[in-house]
Amino acid sequence: MSKEDEIPDFPNEVTPQSQDFGRWYIDVVRRAELADYSPVKGCMVIRPYGYAIWELMQQALDRRFKATGHVNAYFPLFIPESLLMKESEHVEGFAPQVAWVTQGGNEELEERLVVRPTSETIIGTMYAKWVQSWRDLPILINQWANVVRWEKVTRLFLRTTEFLWQEGHTAHETPEEAEEETRRMLGVYKDFAETELAMPVIDGQKTESEKFAGAERTYSIEALMRDGRALQAGTSHNLGQNFAKVFDIKFQARDKSVQYVYGTSWGVSTRMIGGVIMTHGDDGGLILPPRIAPYQVVIVPILKGSSRDAVLARARQIRDELTTQGVRVMLDERDTQTPGWKFNEWEMRGVPLRLEIGPKDLEKSQVMLARRDTREKSTAAMEGLAAHITTTLATIQQALFDRAIAYRTEHTSRTDSYEEFKEIMEGRPGFVVSPWCESPTCEADIKTETQATIRNIPFGEAPLSGKTCIKCGGAATVSAWFAKSY
Ligand SMILES: [Zn+2]
Repeated sequence: MSKEDEIPDFPNEVTPQSQDFGRWYIDVVRRAELADYSPVKGCMVIRPYGYAIWELMQQALDRRFKATGHVNAYFPLFIPESLLMKESEHVEGFAPQVAWVTQGGNEELEERLVVRPTSETIIGTMYAKWVQSWRDLPILINQWANVVRWEKVTRLFLRTTEFLWQEGHTAHETPEEAEEETRRMLGVYKDFAETELAMPVIDGQKTESEKFAGAERTYSIEALMRDGRALQAGTSHNLGQNFAKVFDIKFQARDKSVQYVYGTSWGVSTRMIGGVIMTHGDDGGLILPPRIAPYQVVIVPILKGSSRDAVLARARQIRDELTTQGVRVMLDERDTQTPGWKFNEWEMRGVPLRLEIGPKDLEKSQVMLARRDTREKSTAAMEGLAAHITTTLATIQQALFDRAIAYRTEHTSRTDSYEEFKEIMEGRPGFVVSPWCESPTCEADIKTETQATIRNIPFGEAPLSGKTCIKCGGAATVSAWFAKSY
């Protein structure tokens, strides 16, 4: 049994990051009640607080998909074996992780079914029926769904056998349009990650060995976690005509010739939640960016003595005012816990802003505010409170992004020397940018010797001239971003 498979006791406190980052992560996920282990090996339960984060992510992504012309649809969970087997690279890529259904009720199935690991094959089959003419193109469909990829190691949100995601599948008339779509959706992911999650990402192209099984080109966004490891947070694939030829997705072109469509697919998953935890969290627990926090403000009233009813009434009034202004608020009026306990609890659960209100505040017509990210405390007048809080939440969102950018900058090194490369990977990991000759052999050797993989070749890196590959010393063609990764 691997370390990750042992289900630890429910933690009271969170292990410090510096002591054991992996342990810290699991403690936060469980203490903040984001997810839990389940009786099904490899499968997790997403608890309401974690699911609320996912819903906010979904909404923010879905808005962006619709704004770029996409619509949602739903395809079957099961895929007949014969369909999966059609695209040979695709099969090779996914076969080791596929879950099979062999029996329905008491009857053995004539044809085995797979539980979808991704839906290119079943969706491609339908597109073949729906596309006849160039007038039917483009098709711009997204699906919100669960997928299954058998995993031997479980890491809540990061690696589970079943996970939730969205998968976009599009079909186009020309290769240029397909490439434009592939890049556009990567851009949507980058904007989503940076604007909503305050998680800076590097966008670029995957190497041949890391691309999606069956794609011509894969692009990814890569984020840096606080332990110096990279997380692939989203991918967008240009499928060329690979799936179209296999699934016979043909159309009559404008010049009356018969052509195959050009396809793309792109996806992000609940893994993003893991990315948020490991981008922003600290030893006090979770820190949520306000835009995806289920509760942006928690109100903790200091209830005692004769002022109790007055304080509670005012707290409720503030809650209602803020809610009207579109702020997500939790008023913690539980009698069973002390204010101090509540402070800790909501800090642990990452609520961006805490509002305290007691009898003295009532007299002075003010409240106390405490930021989760900096732990700064300040007083704020009741007058104009909603506007002040809205501004403060925007400030926190920006501060988290700035801090994450600063962390990434500090943990990005550039070197032309393989000796130095190895030292960095052992000592203080992060991104290491080095010249590479694009040979898969060099890439594989570096991985074996250092565990570092090429995360991607970023867009907008200056072209290389006169540099040599850090591994083989041959002429380098690109600057590759290396890191140890999740
Ligand atoms: Zn080389």
